[in-house]
Amino acid sequence: MSGTPLAVLMRCMNFAAVKHKNQRRKDAEATPYINHPIGVANILTEEAGVDDVIVIQAALLHDTVEDTNTTIDEIVEHFGHNVAGIVAEMTDDKNLAKAERKRQQILHAPHASPKAKLVKLADKLYNLRDLQRCTPCGWSEDRVQEYFVWAHQVVAGLRGSNRQLENKLDDLFRSRGIEV
Ligand code: NDP
Ligand code: ZN
Repeated sequence: MSGTPLAVLMRCMNFAAVKHKNQRRKDAEATPYINHPIGVANILTEEAGVDDVIVIQAALLHDTVEDTNTTIDEIVEHFGHNVAGIVAEMTDDKNLAKAERKRQQILHAPHASPKAKLVKLADKLYNLRDLQRCTPCGWSEDRVQEYFVWAHQVVAGLRGSNRQLENKLDDLFRSRGIEV
């Protein structure tokens, strides 16, 4: 929490790198997982014009609680309540079945805070680009398309948050034949 914005961001990046150190993405190249949260933060600064440090911190940390042993209390302790609140909004309930988690994302999207909506848009943009770039091992073309259709439904609840991100997402949806 304390320190210059630069020091705070580096602390987040380091925290996420340590937490995700043994994880890989699902692409055929098994890219290091940390590329994803850093890429989401980079989309926000480079493509969405976001300069709110709290949002960038949350982007860097957004999958730590969902995908590692990190707790929200730990995020509060190290990075404060504002960042932890957004990370909590980015965290699916792992007690639910996967299909139900996906349904909950569609239902919850319209009620997310404005800052969480920005991270959610950038997260979807990154994941859709990743799927365009390289199909994960074991995924059929139908499954990839199903993911695009589901992401389109989540994004419907996030609209009105950032024109640049929404335009780029819409281009991707159109390229997949999904009406926007
Ligand atoms: P997901 O479909 O949720 O996997 C996608 C998630 O994995 C992304 O949201 C992303 O989350 C993460 N991810 C990691 N690497 C990549 C990458 N290279 N590209 C894109 N995303 C990546 O996987 P689940 O196994 O959790 O999905 C289960 C659901 O999939 C079921 O509910 C079912 O509906 C569907 N399914 C469909 C099948 C079919 O053949 N049609 C077969 C099996 C399941 P993050 O941002 O958190 O990293
Ligand atoms: Zn993510």
